[in-house]
Amino acid sequence: MASTCTHTPTCPTADSPDREAAVTVACHPEQGWSLLCNSVVVFEDTGDLLPDGQIVAPHRPVGSDTGVDDLFLRYMAAFEASQNHCAACPACQGNAPCPVGAPVHDLFLELHEQYHARARRRGAGLAAA
Ligand SMILES: [Zn+2]
Ligand SMILES: [Zn+2]
Repeated sequence: MASTCTHTPTCPTADSPDREAAVTVACHPEQGWSLLCNSVVVFEDTGDLLPDGQIVAPHRPVGSDTGVDDLFLRYMAAFEASQNHCAACPACQGNAPCPVGAPVHDLFLELHEQYHARARRRGAGLAAA
């Protein structure tokens, strides 16, 4: 895919961890999304949609934590695995027991807890209250 970026320095690509640092080329705050120069669509508090259709988990920083590290990456991977499983699994879509999906969803929930617990700890360290 050819880049149409004319910015200096060049905007981060859609597959780079700092993809959201790209220049905003279309902003629709009333609909809660923005289009970046690298074709990533950023949704308000719900994550990113990449040009190839991948969804990236929400990762708005809590406090000053930018959150891009190993735990965050595992959390994102687990989110995608969970989403992908549900998209293809009638049992999970119907909230029925699913022996295949259970470990996938459990891993996502566990990493979700770990990630947000850490963000809360860091946030609490900064806030006076
Ligand atoms: Zn650009
Ligand atoms: Zn399932």
